[in-house]
Amino acid sequence: MKVSSPYIVLLRDLPTKRRLEVPSERVGEWLRGMPMRDALGAPEVDPEAGRGTAELELYADGSHVFAAGTFQGELTVACSRCVNPVVIPIDERLRVTFMPRHELPSDEEEEQQAAGEDGEGAEVTEEDLDLFPYDGDVVDLEPLLREQFVLAVPYAPLCREDCKGLCPQCGIDRNTDTCRCEAPIDPRLAALKGLKLPS
Ligand SMILES: [Zn+2]
Ligand SMILES: [Zn+2]
Repeated sequence: MKVSSPYIVLLRDLPTKRRLEVPSERVGEWLRGMPMRDALGAPEVDPEAGRGTAELELYADGSHVFAAGTFQGELTVACSRCVNPVVIPIDERLRVTFMPRHELPSDEEEEQQAAGEDGEGAEVTEEDLDLFPYDGDVVDLEPLLREQFVLAVPYAPLCREDCKGLCPQCGIDRNTDTCRCEAPIDPRLAALKGLKLPS
């Protein structure tokens, strides 16, 4: 058990209010392996990876632990067209429930439910609840914080709506440069460009 984690809350400390800071090293670690993050070619320890702050109120009701509050931060991924860094802001309201691991439906049960088989057995429907497990008398908020970053990564991030991307031939950034593949040397040919047949 990661007792040293800054994101651990002990049941005996509830109710409590916590302000949790996520530094860039964590963000970089959590997003490693995601294509739009790896495409940046950022160093292993990237001070620009992102950051976040969660302000949470936590209280227990029976064996359930409720966490509510806000999460604000940002993360940096690559533009899906030009591969330049794009900063994605995060501003979320959080309301989640932590349950003892054995009370959560197992993955198998969830799959059965998804497959339309008898859902009676499960006590919890996950539709309106964001559920996380906890073990023993320790609630680890890390999966919740990690999820804020992972879910914030867009499918195809753009540095700007009209990003011109990279030249497919020479790889130059068309937002900041022009290349000969694009611009005909003879300006008179430019008028014919739209008529050019595919080669
Ligand atoms: Zn771009
Ligand atoms: Zn080019």
